[in-house]
Amino acid sequence: MSGHMTPEEFRRYGKQVIDWIADYQEKIESYPVLSRARPGEVLAGLPEHPPERGEGFEGVLADLDQVIMPGITHWQHPGFFAYFPANASGPAILGDLLSSGLGVQGMLWATSPACTELETRVADWLAELLGLPEAFRGNGVIQDSASSACLVAVLAALHRAGGGTPPAQGGLVGRHTLYISSQTHSALEKAARITGIGADNVRVVDTDPDTLAMDPAHLDALIAEDRAAGAVPVLVCATIGTTSTTAIDPVRAIGEVCDRHGVWLHVDAAYAGVAAVCPELRWINDGLGEHVDSYSTNPHKWMLTNFDCNLLYLADRGPMVDALSILPEYLRNQATASGEVIDYRDWQISLGRRFRALKLWSVIRWYGAEGLREHIRTGVRLAQELASWIDADPGFEVLDHHPFGLVCFRPRWEGLPDGEADAATLRMMERLNASGALYLTHAKLPGGTRAGLPDGKAGGRVLLRMAIGGPATTESHVRDAWRRIRDEASGSAAVAAT
Ligand SMILES: *Cc1c(COP(=O)(O)O)cnc(C)c1O
Repeated sequence: MSGHMTPEEFRRYGKQVIDWIADYQEKIESYPVLSRARPGEVLAGLPEHPPERGEGFEGVLADLDQVIMPGITHWQHPGFFAYFPANASGPAILGDLLSSGLGVQGMLWATSPACTELETRVADWLAELLGLPEAFRGNGVIQDSASSACLVAVLAALHRAGGGTPPAQGGLVGRHTLYISSQTHSALEKAARITGIGADNVRVVDTDPDTLAMDPAHLDALIAEDRAAGAVPVLVCATIGTTSTTAIDPVRAIGEVCDRHGVWLHVDAAYAGVAAVCPELRWINDGLGEHVDSYSTNPHKWMLTNFDCNLLYLADRGPMVDALSILPEYLRNQATASGEVIDYRDWQISLGRRFRALKLWSVIRWYGAEGLREHIRTGVRLAQELASWIDADPGFEVLDHHPFGLVCFRPRWEGLPDGEADAATLRMMERLNASGALYLTHAKLPGGTRAGLPDGKAGGRVLLRMAIGGPATTESHVRDAWRRIRDEASGSAAVAAT
């Protein structure tokens, strides 16, 4: 078999693929959440050499079941509570399929006006849904990930700090500094390495020992100290909903510090930002309208839009476009020259871009604001219930901060020294994950942290993280997971006591 797949063949196999996905959705609970594949097992099941002659498509579907599925960790399983959710949904899958079907590469407005203009519209829709500041309207762009959004923000901030001329000589002249906390995502340090700012010039601002929120007074002092030493403070990253524990930095107070020093403020709300679709959670946006230069959130985590879909918003897109715009002859065209259109290639690292707006558009139209709010509220409600059960169990303690879908907790392991207790917590997590019924991950907080745990010392200790927010997860799944966790802990405690 060889040659291109005809539309007739595509129709036939395409229906099989859609059926395959729908079957998968129906039977997803029959799989173990965490893949049990050993390293190299999938690789060994794959032919070492590519086929010389085309093989058709049936074999792909057969191998998908036999070779690939055992190596899949089921992110859409209702017992998936690890990391943060990476929601998939029917409308998003179909929107993504349409994007593949069109096969558009939307680097310029001219390379598909609809690709650009739909993106502009859905970015504004999301800004309205989340109640984001007016200044962000017309200034939103879809990135592949929150990490790319951070990198773009750092490049724009460097450009502005450098007086607005793109570096022609290569290398930063003098020392440039970024400001994060110990709880900031590692994407910021990566951006510092990529941009040449250097990891050593990433300054770590103190956090409050109870809330793990960045301390604006310490930030102020560090920026002043660096400036006095001749450094150029470039960007501060504040986080709404940190990865370990969903801590929230005081954006308004941090923004006042940034304003005073003329430093770019980027807000990373990768996981939690979309929660603002609910009016009762919109308090998380406090301060965004006053001092924030860039803001980003991931519909691909908790807002039902298949990976990848990050939204980056700029209060003023000028520095970003100036920093990233290069116009070689082969990209020159009338629309760009007219200045009437947006070319999103100037808003990201790479040149080419997928038509991601289609899946976000499908999701927003399918669910409506109402459906999106319902999804977030379900996750929040289940997390609050879980936290109340843990709190009521004398064998456990729970972090008292859990405004979203993440709950952090640990067994008390009465009588065990801290180090042994942490090892016991991790072993228990591994056993639970090996059961196939659920998947949890863990966090470790910095030394000296109190973090609102009843015994008042979370610093350096291992906490289990249970992140609720998958569209298939219901109360009975959370109840079942909690029962398993409790049984496992009491079983282990009994063993430890003998
Ligand atoms: C998940 C997460 C990121 C990284 O997201 P990607 O889109 O995978 O790059 C960044 N910041 C925070 C706070 C996160 O939770």
